[in-house]
Amino acid sequence: MKIEIEWIEDYTDCELCGSSSANGADVKIDGQTWGYDMEPVAACYDGSSFNEWDVYRAIFAIAELEFVAGDTEDYKAQLEAAGHVVEETHTYPDYEAMRYDYGDDDE
Ligand SMILES: [Zn+2]
Repeated sequence: MKIEIEWIEDYTDCELCGSSSANGADVKIDGQTWGYDMEPVAACYDGSSFNEWDVYRAIFAIAELEFVAGDTEDYKAQLEAAGHVVEETHTYPDYEAMRYDYGDDDE
């Protein structure tokens, strides 16, 4: 399989709660969006965030590989060792455009 992982970050900056960020991923398997909703939503309440473990666990299920969780596991290398092609990109939020204008506050 060709696995394209776009790691996505979302960011919000609330005048009351402060800033928060969320992580997620859009994954394509052989050119097809995988159908797992792991879009990050940064919010004061009820945001959604998915870490590397969440994303790779779902990919391993699709690839029918045994997923062994651990900090030292190199998930990408395991997929490649099983014959899959893995391409990763990273999309960062436009912090400046999303940030409220606090005037002189340099936080
Ligand atoms: Zn808030």
